[in-house]
Amino acid sequence: MTWLRKAKEGLKAQQRRRDLPDGLWVKCEECGEILYHKELERNLSTCAKCGYHFRISAWQYVKILLDEGSFRERFSEIVSTDPLRFKDSKRYIDRLKRAREDTELTEAVLCGEGAIEETPCVIAFMDFSFLGGSLASAAGERIARSILLAIETRRPLIILSASGGARMFEGILSLMQMAKTNALLARLSDAGVPYISIMTHPTTGGVTASYASVGDVILAEPKALIGFAGPRVIKQTINQELPEGFQRSEFLLEKGMIDRIVHRTDLKKTVAWLLKFFASRSVLPQRPRRRAGESLERFRAASFPIGTALPPPPPDSEAPAGTPPSANGDQPGAPHAPIPAPLPESQRTAKEVPIQE
Ligand SMILES: [Zn+2]
Repeated sequence: MTWLRKAKEGLKAQQRRRDLPDGLWVKCEECGEILYHKELERNLSTCAKCGYHFRISAWQYVKILLDEGSFRERFSEIVSTDPLRFKDSKRYIDRLKRAREDTELTEAVLCGEGAIEETPCVIAFMDFSFLGGSLASAAGERIARSILLAIETRRPLIILSASGGARMFEGILSLMQMAKTNALLARLSDAGVPYISIMTHPTTGGVTASYASVGDVILAEPKALIGFAGPRVIKQTINQELPEGFQRSEFLLEKGMIDRIVHRTDLKKTVAWLLKFFASRSVLPQRPRRRAGESLERFRAASFPIGTALPPPPPDSEAPAGTPPSANGDQPGAPHAPIPAPLPESQRTAKEVPIQE
């Protein structure tokens, strides 16, 4: 049997010679190109040949997006416990411990304050390496408090998502985070504070179905998998072949679900430009918006300072009965009224905001 052992050892030796030194070279998972580690770092972990975006950690995104030294972590004291004492092949509490040891994180989301090209903002980064970037009570609470911080400081909010969805080890408590974060985002929107959502590979499940999809602007990295259920489940359910590129950011851009695909090397300047755009827009006078389901009386009462006389109701329009007015209050088909020049503060009255039923 010696010859057999020799053959085995021989094969091993050949294998060793072909191996690349650890850490110097990385193989692209998409095109197979061998990339020099330093070059990969320079390209912010994207393949120079095919543009494949390697998955990176929340702390690496801090370095890429924020001005050097501007990040201050917040809400790190909020951590997951094990409310359901969940156990499958392992105990949930042990999985949490392991994830904390393996990553430089205490939860699947890293929140804080920082500045992007000197514009201060509140920012949250999800990290897929922490239990699949799953959303659970603590992660949801950190995001909720970041939204409240953005409302309080009137600083724009940015959430970078990388998630497999809600964390099933916490059952319904995880699912409740979807409603909680979205309810607060509605308040953020009412306060007129912008929210930019950045979707990275992968953004799926409850995260896509809640805060990741409701940004004022939604950006995504190229070829990121974005969806609710996975393609295999959908294929089985509808029993049909799925189109090519289904659930990738390019497909979603075409369908109008996201606003722009941004290469990681352009991410900082794109977000910085958006923040500056929103900052310049916010100095213009704003028209109060009537929310879905809000009665006209309630809207009038909430939109004007106490003691201000309500503006007279608009004269009956000449539109035939049953014709709904368009969203901006103009008659259907009529050209949009020009935006009036802003009035000085002293002259601004309730009459500036005509309300039409
Ligand atoms: Zn590649």
